[in-house]
Amino acid sequence: MKLVSACLIGINCRYDGENRLNDKVMKLLKHEELIPVCPEQLGGLPTPREPSGILNGSGEDVIDGKSKVYNAIGQDVTQNFTKGAHEVLKIARLYGIKDAILKQRSPSCGCGETQQMRYENGKYTSSLVKGDGVTAALLKRNNIRIITEEDL
Ligand code: SF4
Repeated sequence: MKLVSACLIGINCRYDGENRLNDKVMKLLKHEELIPVCPEQLGGLPTPREPSGILNGSGEDVIDGKSKVYNAIGQDVTQNFTKGAHEVLKIARLYGIKDAILKQRSPSCGCGETQQMRYENGKYTSSLVKGDGVTAALLKRNNIRIITEEDL
């Protein structure tokens, strides 16, 4: 049994109200129990919602209180991201889960690549940076192995 980012199995939980259905994950679902989670929804954010990114840091920094998460209209959504990460960890512990298949490049689920938010010329813009998203970082810290959909 593994956790999976809900958008990878067709749940419309992305910021834009869409999903990122992944064929390899759907094939795996035929053979293995996968528990869908969306940390941003579990953290209380609506769908659709503004896209977000980590301001000057990584998911690790957010967990340690050294960095924050902002959305594209400048709202601080750090509390939603950390709450969502802890809710996902709670689910993992309830089921004794050791592996999670997470969506690459998300500010929550990204593993090795994530979204950074910058404030320049009066507006917020996101870009891809090295590092983990907030949920991926918390799960890793608790010895849960992260597999991206690209690793399958
Ligand atoms: S937070 Fe994770 S599960 Fe939710 S939409 Fe983003 S990548 Fe998918």
